[in-house]
Amino acid sequence: MQRILPRGEIEALDHNAIPRVTLPERGSVFAARAARLRQLAADNPVSDYLLLMAHLVHAQQQALQACTAPEASADRISLAQAHGMPPLQAVGWPRDPLWRRILIQLVDDVSRAPGVPAEAVEVCAALRRAVDEDPDSLEELADAVLSEQDQDVDSAAAPFVMAALQVYWTDLASRFDAKQLPVASPFGVCPVCASLPVASIVRVGGQYEGYRYLCCSLCSTQWHMVRVKCSHCEDVENVAYQAIEGRSPAIKAETCDHCHTYRKIFYQDKDLYVEPVADDLASLMLDVLVGEAGYSRSSGNPLLWHGAED
Ligand SMILES: [Zn+2]
Ligand SMILES: [Zn+2]
Repeated sequence: MQRILPRGEIEALDHNAIPRVTLPERGSVFAARAARLRQLAADNPVSDYLLLMAHLVHAQQQALQACTAPEASADRISLAQAHGMPPLQAVGWPRDPLWRRILIQLVDDVSRAPGVPAEAVEVCAALRRAVDEDPDSLEELADAVLSEQDQDVDSAAAPFVMAALQVYWTDLASRFDAKQLPVASPFGVCPVCASLPVASIVRVGGQYEGYRYLCCSLCSTQWHMVRVKCSHCEDVENVAYQAIEGRSPAIKAETCDHCHTYRKIFYQDKDLYVEPVADDLASLMLDVLVGEAGYSRSSGNPLLWHGAED
């Protein structure tokens, strides 16, 4: 006779069925983001910026196809497993100078794209010169953006540097074997590269249906986290949802009255094409309103930086 599982075990089985991470799809991750940016730019107060970023993200997709960054060593992976740490941790990673060649590709592509404003072409030219003449300054800027230090960051150059680093880490993550992840990971950061999430998304479809995933700002990995829980401080009692009346029901801010921060949450069942980085960037009005209500962002958008001069 077949034994029927007691209730607790049934729930445990069910829990185990939730996929823990989704690694990025290297064939489409940036192409989908670029398409979404273009779509959202059609009727948006920051339309020009979204279109500029669409050019940059389109160039990222081209660069990713050709990118093969040096992988993590076996030693690094076993060390990460022993200590429950993200195996491709970006801060302190021995970055190959390859990322600067990716940066050249990106700024060259953006400079040549139609309709790019003169100021952006100048930023690209300055970055192009820095690769040859002052690579140390670029390494410093890369360290600053990877550790989210707004104050040391040139806000015009940062999105391009971040974009090159995204290509580098998305390449690594897309080729990573998720079975090599440590059993447990630190709360609130990407289990693959330890960067902060840009936003979260409640997904539809198959085994993902109705589950919430946090979306990495660097390597595009998504990882599961239960709903109605603060993604910054883990509080479950003081979480609330804010939206702008009359705007897309697919976008809310998940606010926390314990730590007074928020992150946006996107609902695929309300809009199948929500894309965390693009939709976050295109909904700045929600940031303004939630900011006025006294909440601060838990982490920034990888394509928008506020330097010391702002
Ligand atoms: Zn990551
Ligand atoms: Zn909180």
